[in-house]
Amino acid sequence: MSKQDTLQTSQNINQKKPHTERSRSEQRRRELLKTHFGFDTFRPNQEEIIKNVLAGNNTLAIMPTGGGKSLCFQLPALALEGTAIVISPLIALMKDQVDALNANGIAASYYNSSQLPEVQEEVLNHLMTGQLKLLYVAPESLWNLTNYLQKTEISLIAVDEAHCISAWGHDFRPAYTQLSRLQEEFPQTPVIALTATADRATQDDIVQQLGVKGARRFVSSFDRPNLYLDVRPGQQRMQQILKFLKGKETQSGIIYCLSRKSTQTVAAKLVAKGFKAQAYHAGIEAEERSKIQDDFINDRTPIIVATIAFGMGIDKSNVRWVVHYNMPKNIEGYYQEIGRSGRDGLPAHGVMFYSFADVIMLRKFAEGTQTEDFQLAKLERMQQFAEALSCRRKALLNYFGEHVTQDCGNCDICKTPPNFIDGTVIAQKICSAVARLQEQEAMGMVLDVLRGSQNAQIVDKGYQNLKTFGAAKDIPWKDLQQYVIQLLNQGVLEIWFHENGRLVLTPTAKQILFEGKKVRLADLIQPVETTTARKEKKKSTRKDLFEKLRSLRTKLATEAGVPAYVIFSDASLEDMEQKLPRTVSEFAEISGVGRAKLEKYADVFLQVIAKHLDAIESKLPTHQRSIQLFEKGFSVTEISEKRGIAENTVYGHFLKMHELGHKIDLLQFITSEEIATVQKAKQDLKDVEGLKPYFDYFEEQIPYWKLKYGLFLG
Ligand code: ADP
Ligand code: ZN
Repeated sequence: MSKQDTLQTSQNINQKKPHTERSRSEQRRRELLKTHFGFDTFRPNQEEIIKNVLAGNNTLAIMPTGGGKSLCFQLPALALEGTAIVISPLIALMKDQVDALNANGIAASYYNSSQLPEVQEEVLNHLMTGQLKLLYVAPESLWNLTNYLQKTEISLIAVDEAHCISAWGHDFRPAYTQLSRLQEEFPQTPVIALTATADRATQDDIVQQLGVKGARRFVSSFDRPNLYLDVRPGQQRMQQILKFLKGKETQSGIIYCLSRKSTQTVAAKLVAKGFKAQAYHAGIEAEERSKIQDDFINDRTPIIVATIAFGMGIDKSNVRWVVHYNMPKNIEGYYQEIGRSGRDGLPAHGVMFYSFADVIMLRKFAEGTQTEDFQLAKLERMQQFAEALSCRRKALLNYFGEHVTQDCGNCDICKTPPNFIDGTVIAQKICSAVARLQEQEAMGMVLDVLRGSQNAQIVDKGYQNLKTFGAAKDIPWKDLQQYVIQLLNQGVLEIWFHENGRLVLTPTAKQILFEGKKVRLADLIQPVETTTARKEKKKSTRKDLFEKLRSLRTKLATEAGVPAYVIFSDASLEDMEQKLPRTVSEFAEISGVGRAKLEKYADVFLQVIAKHLDAIESKLPTHQRSIQLFEKGFSVTEISEKRGIAENTVYGHFLKMHELGHKIDLLQFITSEEIATVQKAKQDLKDVEGLKPYFDYFEEQIPYWKLKYGLFLG
């Protein structure tokens, strides 16, 4: 069955329910979503999955990282009687999720071997007395608990990171295989298995191993539209990175490098430029590593320069960018790594540097290993992706088996499509050089010959006498290299890696050389300015508030001993920055604000927002400031008190604004009789200058401002 079929099936089943019942339970689900999590709408597939779980069915949910898997079992856990058991592979991950649940006022705990016996006992106590809606358990610890679990009401069993059960997956954990016993021990309890692993073999294996054959599958699109996909030529990487990081100094991001050594050099260079960055790799002592990770999670160190070991099992939702210093070895890894950014759904930026040298290095790593062929094939796909001249996302999603034909509009190619030039002459020169070198030389030498380099090797071999020597000396080396790569991609040339990487002509090359076949080449792509950097400037006053909200968040997080994003995600802060809530009920509308967070945090965040707005407003001209307060519902007396100015002055401000064309109805402050009275005095006093004579005329009984209004409106 295709994934469309699976989805269809589930929808049909739900459609059979009577209409009223459906809308009532739908309403209930939305209510839980808002009250406990503060969200207004479900993400794709969440609701269908939740319905299936609530119907007591087994479920397999495949969703990309950041797709919102946790909610798929957390919400049913709240809706159902009893405790949900969540199997989770990593202790850090467990703690994180429990922190996040607790912050939302949900009773959740975890149980694993890292806890002291008395803590474990307390957790079990809570479990047995029915105080927990969710209990996270490490697979190793699960079977110690069976006796207890048998005596408790279990609402559902969730197996998070379910691919760990499969030897097919990339993250196999022996303890997970024990989970096959679940079905025997708890035959009545619905199981939901969740993973971000896309490939079919692993999915099938999960179902098989868990013994949940009838499980309905929900496969979400792997598209992460908020990720900007950006591939750049790997030249002057450090310079490009520094430019990229402008305006991102406090944003969290990860730079992935291939070697431990380069993590250290890149981190050192960033530090030298004033950035807060740390290197992270498997060679660093465990304790230090966990500190580095902690500092990252808690926003103390924004930039981590790491080998791929970093980021697994980190739930941090506000990673804003990921840079691949080198090309990753396969597309799965690439997507997983950039997928660690933008989990909160806000824009995130993935930059990948690519050079031919990376390819060669990665080939060396793969060669001689048991799975060499497999790895090389994947590497080749990666390389094709990097060199693609059409929409990146299209290429990526097609790779994962989603047939997409539309360009995405959010990748480097879509943003700045390459210009194509007639590359026939360049192609002829390159092919001719390869031919004259008897197809015996690797790319470096071919380039040197075309460029007319006078190096020792060339002279030794007598290549300076070839007809094509120096034929492309007007083209810079790097550019020429790019053209050769394009020819490789177009199937004009081939690299024979197993024979020292020599370049070889294909039949197409012969058509170009001898039959006048035309060649189109992409004009070389210049590294582009990031679009975000430009936007950054415009938003500067808004950004100001974001920073204030951020530091309040940090303070609260430190006090509570949880990561900052557990207090509020970046998405929530951004929503505050946009909606500028003034009241508690306005604050309740912010995404991510549920009941618990409203109670805990509304006041402090509202204060910061109010102070910020006041500061901006105090910079306004005084008459504008008065009218703004009036329009917010303050009375004249209140405005005068609040601003420490006379009421008379406040009325004066209104009149001035009226004269400046601002819409304000002055007749609300003065009656037509009063106007008539003032007008009559005007006649009696024969148009005297100034207000003082009027004031005296009325024996100080009519205030100055009203005299002014009376004269003005008459
Ligand atoms: P996954 O486990 O699939 O990687 P998470 O469950 O960690 O994803 O969710 C990623 C982020 O998306 C979290 O910050 C979460 O609060 C947020 N999120 C989940 N569901 C929704 C929703 N319906 N609306 C808004 N944000 C959501
Ligand atoms: Zn695109």
